[in-house]
Amino acid sequence: MASTLPGVLRSAAAVHGARPAVVDGERTLSFQDLLDHVRATAAGYIALGVEPGDRVCIWAPNSADWMIAGLAASYAGATLVPINSRYTGHEAQEIAVRTHARIFVVANGFLGRDQVGELRAAGELPELGAIVTLPPLPGGVAVPAENVVDFGSLAELGVELLGDADARAEAVSADDVADILFTSGTTGRSKGAMSAHRQTIAVSAAWAEIGGVSAEDRYLVVNPFFHSFGYKIGIVVGLLTGATLYPVGIFDVDTTMELIERERITLLPGAPTIFTSLLEAPGRGSRDLSSLRLSITGAAVVPVVLIERMRAAAPEGLGIDHVYTAFGMTEAVVATMCREGDADVLVATTCGRAIPGAEVRIAAVGGNEPLPAGDEGEVLVRGEIVMLGYLDDPAATADAIDEDGWLHTGDIGKVDEAGNLQITDRLKDMYISGGFNVYPAEIEQVLARHEAVADVAVIGVPDDRMGEVGQAYVVRRAGSSVEAADLIAFARERLANYKAPRLVEFVDTLPRNASGKVLKIDLRDTKKTEQQ
Ligand code: ATP
Ligand code: MG
Repeated sequence: MASTLPGVLRSAAAVHGARPAVVDGERTLSFQDLLDHVRATAAGYIALGVEPGDRVCIWAPNSADWMIAGLAASYAGATLVPINSRYTGHEAQEIAVRTHARIFVVANGFLGRDQVGELRAAGELPELGAIVTLPPLPGGVAVPAENVVDFGSLAELGVELLGDADARAEAVSADDVADILFTSGTTGRSKGAMSAHRQTIAVSAAWAEIGGVSAEDRYLVVNPFFHSFGYKIGIVVGLLTGATLYPVGIFDVDTTMELIERERITLLPGAPTIFTSLLEAPGRGSRDLSSLRLSITGAAVVPVVLIERMRAAAPEGLGIDHVYTAFGMTEAVVATMCREGDADVLVATTCGRAIPGAEVRIAAVGGNEPLPAGDEGEVLVRGEIVMLGYLDDPAATADAIDEDGWLHTGDIGKVDEAGNLQITDRLKDMYISGGFNVYPAEIEQVLARHEAVADVAVIGVPDDRMGEVGQAYVVRRAGSSVEAADLIAFARERLANYKAPRLVEFVDTLPRNASGKVLKIDLRDTKKTEQQ
């Protein structure tokens, strides 16, 4: 297996040549087409002044062009910086500033050039060579093109430089920084996690192996490319296995079901919310989704009932043969995964065992000595999958990765005798009520089982007597008139008194980030503002 991304792309073209690498709406590119476009685009980047190690930022929804733009960054010896497509212009540009972007590839319609002009004038983007705009989104608006290079013209710009691009690709080393992916910012400011080519490839290969992914697979990538689950576990897995990728730019449940049926999609990893919306879609009964072979979910606490319904045959469920859960984070991509043959109950209650090349351990917070099976503590991860470190933040890196190489994840969990990991909560979400540690995730699992509850999140809020108490934010199912007192009583029957929430507030929706995670930080901020 090649140890750099350009190497992986070239072997994919050599082995799978004319087979489809990506199907994006009406457009299909073979692996050879993909390599050709990537070379041409890399040459265009070089024409725009990209040097090895420069940063190429991409701010756009999933598409075939995103794949080309991203892989071309690696091919030209640059570092790829994917930016959250849900970000505002202000947030996206902050990442461009923080990473000293040389090239800023932007979905046409995402950004007026004047905003960038202001930053340039203020000297905040001194390294920026060019803004490159991707073709307009359906229904999108084209930005006036002065000072801005159209993605489609890169090949022409670089026409004389294809040899240089190949030489750059050759010169990439497995230890060069391949990508800087920003964490979701669930607990605070997003941090840029830097990975070497060898790390990105190792984790993608391990995932592909456990999932049994092959060139026969048709892989619907709803996970965003700016996240490790879309980029590494999506694009890179496609190249390593020859599977055909179907990038989804904007998730819409009806279009997704139509695509699964028409293209006989086999692989659909996604955040738990994707499956909830598929299960609840009114049109599901008339769709044949039986081609789905494997689904892997995680990235947030997965309700047990959801796993059961994903596996159950139609009409109750989605009828997916294999449903696995996994545990991962931007800093280590995927650390644990379930495997074929794991009992349903194990899949529902754990996120599997360490993937090849990784070690997982539970330790007391702050330490790294292993605790016995069944004891709760902080989850630590070690191995080639762990990032090099955070961008421009040696202090945060030293906090996260200790001298023995263990990454301290900030998640609380336990492992069973066989090494299966169960995440119980995040260190930062835990609160202390009357002297007891309370993990909101446990309370959420209980409340989610109430028939009137469509969605729920719990946070700790200050309380004069108890220190902190639980407050639940609940989205009621349509038509339900359940009251706060009913839900509190429901929780009291099933949980120790100190865990049962004292307060319930009904809301229309919960604030979630692009990976589908509830932004508890927003709930806490709202609560603080209310109390002022
Ligand atoms: P930030 O680090 O900026 O606060 P974040 O940690 O949410 O944001 P990501 O790296 O995208 O950003 O998410 C990793 C986190 O997602 C893990 O640390 C863990 O809390 C959560 N997570 C991932 N998989 C699971 C899982 N299977 N079960 C429960 N939680 C999970
Ligand atoms: Mg994190």
